[in-house]
Amino acid sequence: MFKDNLADTIAAISTATGEGGIGIVRLSGKDALAIAGKIFVGKNKAKPVQFKSYSMHYGKIIQDGKLIDEVILSVMRKPKSYTRQDVVEINCHGGMLSLRKILELVLSCGCRLAAPGEFTQRAFLNGRLDLAQAEAVIDIIRAKTETALKISLGQLSGNLSGEVNKIRQGILDILVMQEASIDFPEEGILPQEQTKLAGQLKALDTQLDTLLSCATEGRILREGLHAVICGQPNVGKSSLLNALLKKERSIVTAVAGTTRDTIEEMLDIRGIPVKIVDTAGILVARNEIERKAVARSREQIKLADLVIILFDASQPLGADDRRLIKELKAKHVIAVMNKIDLKMRINRQELVKIFPGVVELAAKTGRNLKHLEDALYNFVHQGKRPDAELILVSNLRHIQALRQAQALVSDARRLLDQRLSLEFITQNLKDACVYLDKLLGKDFPEDLLDKIFTDFCIGK
Ligand code: GDP
Repeated sequence: MFKDNLADTIAAISTATGEGGIGIVRLSGKDALAIAGKIFVGKNKAKPVQFKSYSMHYGKIIQDGKLIDEVILSVMRKPKSYTRQDVVEINCHGGMLSLRKILELVLSCGCRLAAPGEFTQRAFLNGRLDLAQAEAVIDIIRAKTETALKISLGQLSGNLSGEVNKIRQGILDILVMQEASIDFPEEGILPQEQTKLAGQLKALDTQLDTLLSCATEGRILREGLHAVICGQPNVGKSSLLNALLKKERSIVTAVAGTTRDTIEEMLDIRGIPVKIVDTAGILVARNEIERKAVARSREQIKLADLVIILFDASQPLGADDRRLIKELKAKHVIAVMNKIDLKMRINRQELVKIFPGVVELAAKTGRNLKHLEDALYNFVHQGKRPDAELILVSNLRHIQALRQAQALVSDARRLLDQRLSLEFITQNLKDACVYLDKLLGKDFPEDLLDKIFTDFCIGK
């Protein structure tokens, strides 16, 4: 969609809406300097086309002889700019009216309103960023915790792209070498070649494995851990959610999509964004109203990375508890025994047998709440200390591309072990390369590109 329009000069308000100290209208394209010159009156009547790259200039925005705002205009000339085109940023006062007037003015002077993410898409199309780096830009803007921010900054600086390029080069090296052998298939693979190729494939497999080893952790740190609280009515689900909310910083309260019978909250638990959903707590409906609640609970459980199953320590385990335990067998579960401040009637031994790591706490008093946080933390980091620098992959699109590439490389190893024709092996490697290219945005279908960039905000 945008590729054909690279010749247009685009403009948008790049700062967030609402009142602010300053606001920025950004222009990018071949006429950016000339268009800015039509509305900007600087000292000594100097024009933006004369300004040096990376310079800032005080002046006024004038329309029909009338002052619109006092501004600072910055110029970043191609190719050393965000989009690799001429970029002008007009720093004006941060009220909506001033920003909007200046935007309207540049549009009337020949700019086109930028689509969401179009500045970053230009940076990508002009080769300043690859797709993984461009995607990191939106992740930086959306990062909810410091760790997520660190991961995204690493991705923007090319950490992931560098590793993927290394693997891609490894594949290309093998392909070049094998092309020659395929021209003389009657010679087959010589034993020393077989050993060398096996070593190369193993190395590629290991590199992919290393990248993917922190992928789930990375995805959770980027998107948040989706945890669902489950348990019979009155076991203390809402109390637990409230206790966590009180103790931890809530990132967003009342997440959109909240329904009467599921409540969602986003918490920052020791650097992990955790979306906790409190369900209606029942999985068997007794009437029509409950049927809907049950369907929603089941849907939430299906989507969850983790289910926190709650039991009331002051009551014996009931048939409904047992049914719930059975239903959640296939899920990752943290079991919690609540209300330990009351006289214990639950069969603790039985529960510990089923869930050896059961967390014992009292939501009402906040006792042992930390133990649940420990359990959540260990679930995400698998008992290791997180190192944001080692977590290179966090985006599901990247994870899927790497998994596909790894499956093909593993299969190539199997084919080699079985001494099948080199042609099958090289075909696998070519296909693996296609997945890596997709990750980096080489040879990526345009409609999918548009989809990725329209997820951005306008002005970025
Ligand atoms: P839900 O239906 O599972 O959401 O349960 P609620 O959070 O509404 O709690 C049900 C009742 O149990 C309320 O009266 C709570 O005050 C009480 N409750 C929750 N947690 C505790 C706890 O740790 N100790 C005690 N003594 N009471 C609790």
